[in-house]
Amino acid sequence: MGKNKGAGIPQKEQFQRMQYLYQAANQCIKSDPRDLNLCRFYLTTMRSIAKKSVLRLHVDIKRTMCKKCCVLLIPGVTAIVRTKSKKEKHLVVTCLECDTVKRFLLRKGYKLWLDNPEAWLDNIQPITDLPSANKKQNNGMQNDLINLEKVKQ
Ligand SMILES: [Zn+2]
Repeated sequence: MGKNKGAGIPQKEQFQRMQYLYQAANQCIKSDPRDLNLCRFYLTTMRSIAKKSVLRLHVDIKRTMCKKCCVLLIPGVTAIVRTKSKKEKHLVVTCLECDTVKRFLLRKGYKLWLDNPEAWLDNIQPITDLPSANKKQNNGMQNDLINLEKVKQ
């Protein structure tokens, strides 16, 4: 990270590599949907970069990947997508390669944490008055000491 300090986005290189690998995996499936090995290789590499540099994959990316066999889940090509209403309405994505199932609740008004403005650092108000607050605290402590001394006298 030290190398990229001040260059804007931290770990920009890793993000770029991951984005490139994801796009390459997409292209692979588009050009030959029967051969998934290259796509799998790209996505496992992407996942290992994320793991090594402790970066989280965006939900939209994570949801298009099978977590078991690391194949891109494309409806009608590598995955079946169905809605089911058992208990509560939900979406079922089944990987055609390994039959792993992903389930997503279709609750009305449900918001992802990332869609929440609180999740973004930009929206957090910087604490600008921290030094003065510290000063006040110190002053307060000093006042207490003075008061103590007065009491002693
Ligand atoms: Zn799978």
